[in-house]
Amino acid sequence: ETPIVVPPMDPNDTDITELLHADPPKANATFVILARNSDIDGTVKSIRDIEDRFNHKYQYPYVFLNEVEFSEEFKRRISNIASTPVEFGVIPHDHWFQPDWIDETKATAGREKMVKDNIIYGGSVSYRNMCRFNSGFFYRHELLQKYRWYWRIEPDIHFHCNINFDPFLYMENNNKTYGFTITMYEFEATIPTLWGHVKDFIKLHPEYLAKDNSMDYMSDNNGETYNLCHFWSNFEIADLNFWRGEAYQAYFNYLDAQGGFYYERWGDAPVHSIGAALFASKDQIHFFDEIGYEHNPYTHCPRKQETWEAGQCGCNPAQSFDYNGYSCMKQWERIQYK
Ligand code: GDP
Ligand code: MN
Repeated sequence: ETPIVVPPMDPNDTDITELLHADPPKANATFVILARNSDIDGTVKSIRDIEDRFNHKYQYPYVFLNEVEFSEEFKRRISNIASTPVEFGVIPHDHWFQPDWIDETKATAGREKMVKDNIIYGGSVSYRNMCRFNSGFFYRHELLQKYRWYWRIEPDIHFHCNINFDPFLYMENNNKTYGFTITMYEFEATIPTLWGHVKDFIKLHPEYLAKDNSMDYMSDNNGETYNLCHFWSNFEIADLNFWRGEAYQAYFNYLDAQGGFYYERWGDAPVHSIGAALFASKDQIHFFDEIGYEHNPYTHCPRKQETWEAGQCGCNPAQSFDYNGYSCMKQWERIQYK
């Protein structure tokens, strides 16, 4: 028999043992959690869920943000359950609080009217600060500068399925910009003048519109009126560089200057959603069907049985919000196959 001859190793070849032990590819990404010190119990539950369903395996770090210093208890309890590095940051004053140029008489009148009309958070200034911060400032925080991708997590949310893939790498490898799990209608009373300002901005800057945008998801009449559909932004996986880019930044500054975050109660969900739908192309927006997700009072549960089983999902697919009359899944789906 001919003996097997092993050729001498070329020093330029990669040693196979090196490949076997190499870390799997990872995205430049982090979780972002805005929270109050009083949100600690609910935040621990959310982080416990994401660790058990995803992060014990995929190992992405965390950034926590707050307009005041996090308490020692908050930092201790979070650090105790996170399997990866955690950073705690304070938000710069001007990124959070109501600017001086807001007409306080007009803002007060706006809040009083919403309280009378029973609009949720209608009388709250801190809720408005939060919505404005999430709309136009979180991605400028110094702790986020080193990252390209983020996954937003809130207190008291639930992940109902094992996430057996890396959503950040999925976004990166498929040229995605914005990912969501739940889409629904906004309360019109919180944004009475928003769409008018959006239309004015588009007239000033038609060059920012993406060629193949998602206008037909948000409007039933080519942009004349807003149908109130938006992505529920308490869950988001997205590209920080998109918010940092010229189009979204110009759009946010234009909206901010109208004062509607305080005179009305513009939410970061419609502001992000309209921005993503107009300035990204529709194939850059991704529906993460596999991610079973709950934020009170709604749950997205994977519809396909294979997906539900593969994720060992605990949610009830029959109760998935996708089928709720208040869901905008039908508007989302109608633009997919055009
Ligand atoms: P909802 O989901 O619209 O009902 O509003 P939440 O109360 O869940 O607030 C949205 C997010 O902002 C959550 O992550 C909260 O922890 C956070 N948040 C809300 N208000 C404040 C605030 O005044 N300060 C801080 N630091 N975080 C806040
Ligand atoms: Mn919430």
